[in-house]
Amino acid sequence: MKIPKNFEKYLDAFSRLRTDRNRNYWGEETCFGAPHKPFLLLSVMDLAAQGQITRNLIVPGQEIVETFNGYWQLVIPPGRTTSMAYPFFYLQSDGFWHLAPLEDRRVPKTASTPSMAWLRRTFAGARLDEDLFAFLLNPVYREQLRMVLVQKYFAKEVQPRVAEQGFTNFAAFVYARDLIAKAAETTTGFGKTEPPPPQVRDQGFRKAIVQLYDHRCALCGIRMLTDEGHTVVEAAHIVPWSQCHDDLPNNGLCLCRLCHWSFDEGLMSVGDDYQVLVSGRVRTDRNMPGHILTLTDRPIFKPDPEKFWPARENLAQHRREVFVR
Ligand SMILES: [Zn+2]
Repeated sequence: MKIPKNFEKYLDAFSRLRTDRNRNYWGEETCFGAPHKPFLLLSVMDLAAQGQITRNLIVPGQEIVETFNGYWQLVIPPGRTTSMAYPFFYLQSDGFWHLAPLEDRRVPKTASTPSMAWLRRTFAGARLDEDLFAFLLNPVYREQLRMVLVQKYFAKEVQPRVAEQGFTNFAAFVYARDLIAKAAETTTGFGKTEPPPPQVRDQGFRKAIVQLYDHRCALCGIRMLTDEGHTVVEAAHIVPWSQCHDDLPNNGLCLCRLCHWSFDEGLMSVGDDYQVLVSGRVRTDRNMPGHILTLTDRPIFKPDPEKFWPARENLAQHRREVFVR
């Protein structure tokens, strides 16, 4: 394949990103450099591959933050946090990334500690050079640019994981979309089709459930989503996957961590009229049941429309087999 001249320019630019190279801070896994910019560019590519970016304005929304955080958690040792705001702001020093300020906002040249909240208040998003954007929409060129990032900024042992994550993100996106579509069609289950690998299943199921419930816990109603894209909720199976191999939304609930744990322990369940049930065990002297008891008999939060609601037979099975009355 003949490589266009201007494409070579971007292969070069991607291999010379201006990144922080403090050896005392960045480990071997990222070749002793800060991985923020590569992670952001990989996330942009993933969303382009999924058809979620179709015009040349990269908006700093939840989807790209989650994708960025996914790469971060994959490579960076636990306990170390960051913000996508850093690369989103500082990538402008690499020449091909141009911040688009919101109307009547001046473009600041520097920001000591950019945060996502500030970024969203100040910028509509970022635009790439037009020809670079066209390359990112083309799978052949996109994958070449991806390989440059993977090989240049990550250690040999880490490279396969980083490259694989792009495939996982794509497959999970498709899986989540299919789960929602299947449920909307009200067809029964997946028939005999082979489920995707566990990583893809988990991520896709989570994506579908969290999206349908808009980050709200079905049992207690809490919704906490930080500007950095962290959410308090998780996706829970009503009947465990190991028993039923069913990831459809009506076998799922969006639950905060406390409710998820309580649900799995049988300390909380859902009644036939979609009301919260709380186990008598919660009322013992040794416990501090707090707000959980106040949820008793309150209606659960359900997604719209009704076809995505938890199935009554799944809830009945949870009450029979898991719930401690
Ligand atoms: Zn909850």
